[in-house]
Amino acid sequence: MNTKVLTNPRFIKKIEEISEQKISDCYQCGRCTAGCPFARYMDVPPSQVIRFIQLGLKDEVEKAQGPWFCAACLVCQTRCPRGVDIPRLMEAVRVLHLRAKEGLLDVETINKDLLMDAPPLAIMSAFSKFTY
Ligand code: SF4
Ligand code: SF4
Repeated sequence: MNTKVLTNPRFIKKIEEISEQKISDCYQCGRCTAGCPFARYMDVPPSQVIRFIQLGLKDEVEKAQGPWFCAACLVCQTRCPRGVDIPRLMEAVRVLHLRAKEGLLDVETINKDLLMDAPPLAIMSAFSKFTY
């Protein structure tokens, strides 16, 4: 089978600019994913998101839901032997989505009872993270 993989160096550069991280610092030990309390809910866990970025696989990163599940709890960052700030990389992925006006939350679709019951902080946090 002839599979063509498209890598995107500009995408790597953009992620590095936004996150202020050097993506090649990661040597794929997997400690971030092993410690991430949300990895089990992610289709693509943190170390794999980073691998996709290293390879410039923009489409794969854009499809991944993992960065949206990241709660910025910093566990991964404390476990990384290379000092990679993984939450900032996850944030950079989300920022690129939002800059492209690809918000994941549509206020019109949220159940009104849920809006009334949810803590205001949770609502504000969700809007700052999932909308543009
Ligand atoms: S812990 Fe650090 S070096 Fe290891 S896979 Fe995660 S980001 Fe890469
Ligand atoms: S900061 Fe995000 S990726 Fe890192 S351990 Fe916490 S939830 Fe997982």
